Amino acid sequence: MNDDKNEFWRKIPLWKGVNAADFLSHRWSGDDRLFNFLSAVLPDSVPYDKHSVRMQSREELIKDVLNGVRAATMTIRVTPYVLSRIDWGNPRNDPIFRQFFPMRSVMLPDHPKLSLDSLDEEGDSPVKGLVHRYPDKALFLTTTICPTYCMFCTRSYAVGGNTDTVPKRLKATAKRWDQAFSYIESQPGLHDIVVSGGDSYYLQPDQLRMIGERLIKTPNIRRIRFASKGLAVAPSRIIDEKDDWFRALADVCTRAREAYKSVALHTHFNHPNEISWVTEQACRELMKAGVMVRNQTVLLRGINDDVETMSTLIRKLADNNVFPYYVYQCDMVEKVEHLRTPLQKILDLEAQIRGTIAGFMMPQFVVDLPGGGGKRLACSYKSYDRQTGVSTFTAPALKGRDKENKVYKYYDPLLDVPSP
Ligand code: SF4
Repeated sequence: MNDDKNEFWRKIPLWKGVNAADFLSHRWSGDDRLFNFLSAVLPDSVPYDKHSVRMQSREELIKDVLNGVRAATMTIRVTPYVLSRIDWGNPRNDPIFRQFFPMRSVMLPDHPKLSLDSLDEEGDSPVKGLVHRYPDKALFLTTTICPTYCMFCTRSYAVGGNTDTVPKRLKATAKRWDQAFSYIESQPGLHDIVVSGGDSYYLQPDQLRMIGERLIKTPNIRRIRFASKGLAVAPSRIIDEKDDWFRALADVCTRAREAYKSVALHTHFNHPNEISWVTEQACRELMKAGVMVRNQTVLLRGINDDVETMSTLIRKLADNNVFPYYVYQCDMVEKVEHLRTPLQKILDLEAQIRGTIAGFMMPQFVVDLPGGGGKRLACSYKSYDRQTGVSTFTAPALKGRDKENKVYKYYDPLLDVPSP
């Protein structure tokens, strides 16, 4: 997996002179605005489709992206690391480009059941920014910023900057954090906290230490997870000795072990191309520091929805001691109809991959039930009508708001529903 430490970012003409020390520094962010960047990096024309039957000019692609940005629920934000992992000779068909750059030409009209907060997180938030859905677990949304913004983000109602279509509804304030801590401390049944956002990479190291310390000291809390896509999109932060974030995380893990509690980093890789020698080095540092890392992948059409890609991803993660924890069915959020797959796809992938890797490295293939039913194994559906594309699930362990009696529905993309 080690690609001999080649300086892969230098293939981008603007960054030809950038050495490894600069590229790996967390302070270096590339100093070109995105669209200048696109103009500089794209060739005169690029293949429109996988088989290069049709080409698209550079100007047309930039216009396509600009129109996509206007329609999308997320603004564009990417890291130099992400940009340097894209095949700029064929971006339309590149699995990383397609995750972060909306192209109007590939977007499909929303399924009528898509919504902005499809998991009804706001409905399960006793305090703004704290989602308490499962009896013993809560999700603490500490920040609304991420190192990259993913088009398919389940939290597009809250995360990132306002877009032309979505004014974001959550802000990170000290008052909100205090309210969240008070709530966590008042609930003896809560044992497990996910510190997310946004992305915990965007917590300052002293904030990360403070949150970790306070949760470790809270008697009812046994397990803490920091959710961050950082390892996938900016792994250099972990190996940059001048960046204190990783040291802060390692310190919190040490403190937790002393208190006989557990801390883990939950990250988010979607494609094997996201993994380089920089990632491998970062994973080694995490392992040396005793940080448990688990991964949550989102199943995305045309990006990782084939057996070979998903198997390679799982194996590469396992080889780097990152536990492939979940593969999620893409949530029913707005403006991602083109990235969703039918339920049958996740069922097929699970069936074909199980048995090819040790059971403890086999991810759970799940659907996060629209409407707030929580995560259920995809194969646990109660019914699945492939003609209408509607599958149903129940969540008997969830209590309150009549959740235990509710039937939750996942709708396949319209593209996959046979015409009447
Ligand atoms: S990093 Fe996570 S929270 Fe941030 S935009 Fe992507 S999916 Fe959403």
